[in-house]
Amino acid sequence: MKFNFKGIRFSTWLYFLGFSLSIMILLGLLLVLFIKPYYRNDRLKTVDAITETMESLLLKEDLSEKDLELAARTVIGNNVCAIIYNENGKSIYYPPDSLGQLCMLDKQITIGEKTFIINKDPGQFIDIIKNENPFSMTMTSPFTDIEMLLYGKQVKTNLANYYLILNTPLEPVESYIDFILNQYAYFALIVIAIALILALFLSRNISSPIVRMKDEANKLAQGNYDVQFRTDSFSEINDLASTLDDATEKLSKVNDLRKDLIANVSHDIKTPLTMIKAYAEMIKDISGEDPVKRDEHLNVIIQESDYLDRLVSDMSELSKLQSGVIEVNRDNFDLKKCVDNVVLLLSKAINEKNINLVMDLDDSVVYADEIKISQVIYNYLSNALKYSDDNSKIIIRSKADEEKVRLEVIDNGSGISEEALPYIWDRYYKVDKNFNRSVNSTGLGLAIAKAILEAHNAKYGVESTVGEGSTFWFELSKDYDEED
Ligand code: ADP
Repeated sequence: MKFNFKGIRFSTWLYFLGFSLSIMILLGLLLVLFIKPYYRNDRLKTVDAITETMESLLLKEDLSEKDLELAARTVIGNNVCAIIYNENGKSIYYPPDSLGQLCMLDKQITIGEKTFIINKDPGQFIDIIKNENPFSMTMTSPFTDIEMLLYGKQVKTNLANYYLILNTPLEPVESYIDFILNQYAYFALIVIAIALILALFLSRNISSPIVRMKDEANKLAQGNYDVQFRTDSFSEINDLASTLDDATEKLSKVNDLRKDLIANVSHDIKTPLTMIKAYAEMIKDISGEDPVKRDEHLNVIIQESDYLDRLVSDMSELSKLQSGVIEVNRDNFDLKKCVDNVVLLLSKAINEKNINLVMDLDDSVVYADEIKISQVIYNYLSNALKYSDDNSKIIIRSKADEEKVRLEVIDNGSGISEEALPYIWDRYYKVDKNFNRSVNSTGLGLAIAKAILEAHNAKYGVESTVGEGSTFWFELSKDYDEED
């Protein structure tokens, strides 16, 4: 696989590496710049502290072995060499020091014009301290080139005067700096390793769901709707995945509709077209001269064209409804008025069949999409008309309770068999399959009603007995309902 230098994985690595390197460089600079001044400051403080300890020991009247041991330990533990003389230049305290070769007390030194070894000729240094108390000077060790502090102080007690002399390096020795830098190098390696491991985890967590989603999207692009974008990752990626899942679901629905449409359109359109062609040919060859027959044949052509018109409108209405493109615009409206309008639209068919239409409606106001509910009532009532005999009775009734209104369209028509009942709400389902092909029947009316009522979250249904008739009903919530 080709390495992707623009990918999340490499970029995260790069950022983390850059971040840890810059921190390490900053830390390194701080170390290099501040280690010497810090060390120097620390030394001066240490010398002060040791001087104080020694002074307090010398001022003690009953100086014990234990006290001297404590003094020795303080000196050794602090990288200092020390010596205490009495007034006669006799050393009364000279603990083993931790400076070793570095200690300047037994080396030749020059102060002003005098050159001497303190250890051998302490009187000279005692004189200097007497002149300048406390005395302190810095000098560079000729052996190590390290800057050293020489410090001398006179301590006066009741019994005698003592001279405390301390010597300590003011710069860290090379080995100490090496040690710090070595530690720093290990530390830097560990930090960079941790940064890279973290980058690996982070980039994997971010990139793998995206890579997986890309693969799923590729499948989708090839027409495979059986894809799953859902992931368990960062919330932004999860949001994106669920949006893509929603989009896929909608696309898949539209695709199903498209397939159905193609399958059914070719079938449903072919029959009326054949009829139109056949009757047109009949007019051309046979009935052209016979006005009565010709009118009869032309009427068939007009009816079939109407059917085609209705079929196309129903199909586009249903496909819009089912793909969720159309929104339900709810408002309060008077259900009775809505039924009246539908009855008006169908009055021609009602009169032609001499139907006894009984309206038993109260003044309920419902909260729904008026235009779409009119369509449902139209489909219910036109079915009742289609499947009722002439001179029969159709009742439109509404029943309201506290929360909802139930509308029923009751006919005494053919009724629907129990086996067919579960399927009548499906698209293109017609109980009467082949024969008696009615120019009024597209098999979409109830599917449209179902889609509209489901978009309203409304209950709906049918009770029917073959030979006795059917009751189609739905329920809508009354007035404005916040939950709806
Ligand atoms: P169509 O355009 O065929 O009426 P519908 O979707 O409206 O399509 O109805 C589906 C089928 O349900 C119809 O073909 C019919 O067999 C049956 N049907 C619908 N309403 C009634 C009714 N009131 N009485 C008897 N059968 C009905």
